Amino acid sequence: MDKILRIDVGAQGGPKATVEPVGDYAGMGGRAMTSMVVYKEVPADCHPLGPENKLVISPGLMSGSAASSSGRLSVGCKSPLTGTIKESNAGGTAAQALGRLGYAAVILEGERQGDDMYKVFIDDQGVKIEKANELKMLPNYDLIDKLKPVYGEKVSVISIGTAGEMRFSNSSIAVTDPEFRPTRHCGRGGVGAVMGSKGIKCIVVDASNTKMRQPVNPEGFKEANRKFVEGLKQHAVTGQGLPTYGTNVLTNVLNEAGGYPTYNFREGRYKHHQNLSGELQAENMKNREGGQATHGCHRGCAIQCSGIYTDKDGNYMTKQPEYETVWSHGGNCGIDDLDVVAKLDYLDDNYGLDTIEMGVTIGVAMEAGVIEFGDAEGAIKLVHEVGKGTPLGRILGAGAATTARCYGLEHAPVVKGQAMPAYDPRAVKGIGVTYATTTQGADHTAGYAVATNILKVGGDVDPLKPEGQAELSRNLQVATAALDATGYCLFIAFAILDQPETFNAMVDSINQMYGLNMTGDDVVALGQKILKMEREFNKKAGFGPEHDRLPRYFSREPLAPHNVVFDVSNEELDSVYNF
Ligand code: SF4
Repeated sequence: MDKILRIDVGAQGGPKATVEPVGDYAGMGGRAMTSMVVYKEVPADCHPLGPENKLVISPGLMSGSAASSSGRLSVGCKSPLTGTIKESNAGGTAAQALGRLGYAAVILEGERQGDDMYKVFIDDQGVKIEKANELKMLPNYDLIDKLKPVYGEKVSVISIGTAGEMRFSNSSIAVTDPEFRPTRHCGRGGVGAVMGSKGIKCIVVDASNTKMRQPVNPEGFKEANRKFVEGLKQHAVTGQGLPTYGTNVLTNVLNEAGGYPTYNFREGRYKHHQNLSGELQAENMKNREGGQATHGCHRGCAIQCSGIYTDKDGNYMTKQPEYETVWSHGGNCGIDDLDVVAKLDYLDDNYGLDTIEMGVTIGVAMEAGVIEFGDAEGAIKLVHEVGKGTPLGRILGAGAATTARCYGLEHAPVVKGQAMPAYDPRAVKGIGVTYATTTQGADHTAGYAVATNILKVGGDVDPLKPEGQAELSRNLQVATAALDATGYCLFIAFAILDQPETFNAMVDSINQMYGLNMTGDDVVALGQKILKMEREFNKKAGFGPEHDRLPRYFSREPLAPHNVVFDVSNEELDSVYNF
């Protein structure tokens, strides 16, 4: 991957593509690339939807190779939701395709002229950009239906739905999966709005005439990757739990731990959790025609945690909803029906909405009395309001924090304007530290302390006590930042945290791919470098330690059943970036 594609959306006569050598960004990929470009090229005080912001799309360093589970695509910008730097990544097939075509990044920049929408087509012959107003305001699934007859089903598509076009702070960027469905989303932080502000509806990537990226040392790479896959297969989470049940295996686990936020983070257990469990979800998929529990979101994943969810008659409903989606629309809203959750997941994907932000927003709207907790039809109606851009939909589409402000509520479970995911920070304190301090706003993936607090992976730190949480979160945030640069899926972390030989095999795979001699210390140094750039950007954007806090009510209102508050001290929180 030795070139960068820049698309100046403000060029005379319509967006113009320029391909340049990777230059100063050599050796960067995924989150390292997106954060470095944003850090260097985007003024931190700019408006996220203004001409100075840029949308950076980058495959991970290993994407496009035969490395297992390495197809993550990172998208970065200044976030319309948080005002901070943002990196959001997704699986799907586009990272592999861009990697094989040799693109280390695609950067959308400049000031959109007029209100035309454009589509971009990239293949081994070059780049074409065409006006595509016929695609305007199409939801993602309808968009793919329109593109199919033109490009076939072997291409990859990166797109926005109606939420992105309307520049909602909750809007995602979709990536197609192997079945050519827009099911994988760079969900968090309103990245879709930035793509919408640049007037680009979709990027179609055709890598069919290319070969897989070749390692510098093919034999060494093959052996390292073999050991890596062996490690993934032998670990209980990556080898059995995730392939059998998907991420929703966590519903029963978090509920049992008393850290399952219920009714807009009012309680830590949900009495109908069994109706939402991963076990039931997997059973549905086993018994229903067309359902599939074990499935890769791109080719070459050894874990295969994604899936296909069908209704009772065998009709496709959506991809297997993730744990966080089942929680946000399920227990958090008092809705205990997996088929309703699947419907909501489909609508979110179709309109191009982050399922976490949308579910938490509905929970806030329920608390405000817009609809009752448990009102499934009402929840579906609210998502349609967002997708269609009604006045109420525009409030909800701005996210949970804005919705709480509009209805005069204190109970907005957000950090830096971004909704908290499916783990209550009072009962899983390590994740609370991550929510508070990550450069991204509340984000479980930035330092998944749940692994050690609850699943006892990579050690054991008591989730209910404040001791040790800052150090745990720090180490995980550093490791995750580095991992997000590689294109490897975060879910490999379970195996590499527990099994040193699997971690070594991963590092060796990178070394054999690039002809390097990286060590574990170099991985840590890369993670620290990324976090320092991100933090520096945020500082210039006006964020200080006072923003690295949870909303006060988490320290005031105890959570049942453990009756605990969030009690990690501010001094501890401020120590997370001591490196
Ligand atoms: S583990 Fe799941 S999310 Fe990760 S690459 Fe594989 S299928 Fe995709």
